[in-house]
Amino acid sequence: MAERILIRGAYVLSQDPAIGEVLGGDVLIEGDTIAQVGKGLSAADAQVIDATGDILIPGFIDTHRHTWETSIRTCAPDYALVTYFSGILDNFAPKYRPEDVYAANLWGALECANAGITTLVDWSHIINTPAHADAGIQGLQESGIRSVYAYGFGNTSLQAWWFGPDYTGSVERIDGADARRIRQQYFSSDDGLITMGLATRGTNFCKPDVVRFEWELAKELGVNITVHVAMDRFGYTKGQLTGLRDMDLLYPNTTYVHSSHLTDEEWLLVRDSGGNVSLAPQIELQMGHGWAPAQKAEELGIPVGLSSDVATTASADQFTQMHAIFASERGRRHAASWDENLDGLTPTPDLISCRQVLRWATIDGAKVAGIADRTGSITPGKKADLVIIDGHAVNVAPIIDPVAAVVCAADISNVDTVIVDGRIVKSGGKLHASLDGPRKAVEESRDYLVSKVEPQAGWAVAARA
Ligand SMILES: [Zn+2]
Repeated sequence: MAERILIRGAYVLSQDPAIGEVLGGDVLIEGDTIAQVGKGLSAADAQVIDATGDILIPGFIDTHRHTWETSIRTCAPDYALVTYFSGILDNFAPKYRPEDVYAANLWGALECANAGITTLVDWSHIINTPAHADAGIQGLQESGIRSVYAYGFGNTSLQAWWFGPDYTGSVERIDGADARRIRQQYFSSDDGLITMGLATRGTNFCKPDVVRFEWELAKELGVNITVHVAMDRFGYTKGQLTGLRDMDLLYPNTTYVHSSHLTDEEWLLVRDSGGNVSLAPQIELQMGHGWAPAQKAEELGIPVGLSSDVATTASADQFTQMHAIFASERGRRHAASWDENLDGLTPTPDLISCRQVLRWATIDGAKVAGIADRTGSITPGKKADLVIIDGHAVNVAPIIDPVAAVVCAADISNVDTVIVDGRIVKSGGKLHASLDGPRKAVEESRDYLVSKVEPQAGWAVAARA
């Protein structure tokens, strides 16, 4: 019989509408699968985890992270999007060796496990050679978390890969032969702990024949597309979604990252084509992409996933994203109320709620990642990807509303236990993986990369000391 784990007595925030929130609930895991959710469950031979007074949630889903940038974490705290393009992509990316991608991906995925993120969409636009792809996948594999490896493209110069030699679009294509190799070599099944996506640049960044090639490649491979759209002025004036529509390339289950400046017409294209959005609110606010339009997406019934995007500029965890989007989307609505001249005694209408925010960070994120059939909620039959939040911690207790406790009070330090695919990867607040080797590798990678680039404005000197 499969190994069994019984989690007892938690505030179970299932994110499954049929189950709801079970106070003092139990969850039985058999092997890699959630077997039962309820009260007073018993399983004589099970390992029992007493979670009385703690909060049990589905593992968080990070729907878009350039994990390869973990080895240059926080090198660019003061960057805007436009300076990021030159400072990170033009400067660091061409210097990356396969071992840098490996070290960054392993460390970044371990960071996820520590923070209660059980699924990571690794948006890997660092395929400077096929060996870079192998290295990125190896890092994800060794971490033990669930992930979507979004196979991307090279990043050897902006002119080649983002804007084109004449600033009218790149002529470089994703390496189709290598993408096919990766699909066959690592992802011949879609049931594994790691599955595949395609990370593309899309209209306004690429010549039309490149866009068509990459979209048709995704269709041939049978994987979902993830693409950045409507961030800052990039794509704003010419309409990336209308461009895709004109080429008949609006595929279902495509993830539109950022989407800050989509027009009303384009929002309807996302909805009507069965697309979804990944929003990185901390980064979008900090770096000037625009607002994180979660409320707009929600009104249209478009799934919203949260994401951390770049560790170069902000912390990469879902508590940060939840705080950022809760504040920014409510802030926008409050500001509109001010403009509507409400009398100050009337509460601002139509504010988002903390329950929406937790849903975006979990089950909706799983929809965006394309794997809601197996994760994102505490549902019998789904994989056991679960997180226990310490309800007794000094910044969490006393609990009145457990959802509010997760969204408004908790942080990474309260992530007590993390289970991925039925395996306990963190307990008692400690990761089970050994960190010394991976940390040494990522620090060596940092030393190498920093030594290869010109010092950047605003850098402190610690990394060069
Ligand atoms: Zn991004």
